[in-house]
Amino acid sequence: MRKPAKIVIATHNPGKLREIRAMLAPLGIRCVGAEELDLPEPEETGVTFVDNAELKARQAADLSGLPALADDSGLSVDALHGNPGIYSARWAEDGDGSRDFGRAMERVWREVELAGPDAGHDAHFVCALSLAWPDGAIESFEGRCDGTLVWPPRGDRGFGYDPMFVKAGMDQSFGEIDQAEKHRISHRADAFAKLVAALGQV
Ligand code: IMP
Repeated sequence: MRKPAKIVIATHNPGKLREIRAMLAPLGIRCVGAEELDLPEPEETGVTFVDNAELKARQAADLSGLPALADDSGLSVDALHGNPGIYSARWAEDGDGSRDFGRAMERVWREVELAGPDAGHDAHFVCALSLAWPDGAIESFEGRCDGTLVWPPRGDRGFGYDPMFVKAGMDQSFGEIDQAEKHRISHRADAFAKLVAALGQV
């Protein structure tokens, strides 16, 4: 794997950009955001997390002429055959474009209960990361965090489905624990560790 000197982060989310910039700085990689380059946000038409990360990274690399890094993440629930999965953000969408994760969590729990007691409460978060090069090369890494769903939701830290997710071996939900701690043990940390290990070898 080649190590780029400068990459585009294919996200319009300033929080994500800040976090990724901090993780790649020790490797001597400079990051520029998609917004700064006026790149559009592509439609997520893939059927897997890696598909969606790859299509976002590919478009940003093609349009900018720079290597581009993109991610895609979500919650997969065993009893729901992996849903909401790549639709995790879409399950929270209201008609007016805003997001309501309280309602999305209620839908997850309702469907888990409908699946019956034998289906269990196992779930995992996934994060796919893809690094695309303007010459067509692309590499992807997938991180995962296994756990259990709880109801009612607990804690007001974190975001998305955090309040209903307890990582395996822990007692508190991702909505209750210190967020710096979450960042060390999450699916995103797992995916970044794989990317950084690959970059660190070059
Ligand atoms: P995206 O990767 O920005 O498209 O976001 C995917 C969606 O997955 C988010 O809007 C959240 O609903 C959910 N998600 C991804 N990672 C997490 C997490 O760490 N905690 C809670 N929800 C998450």
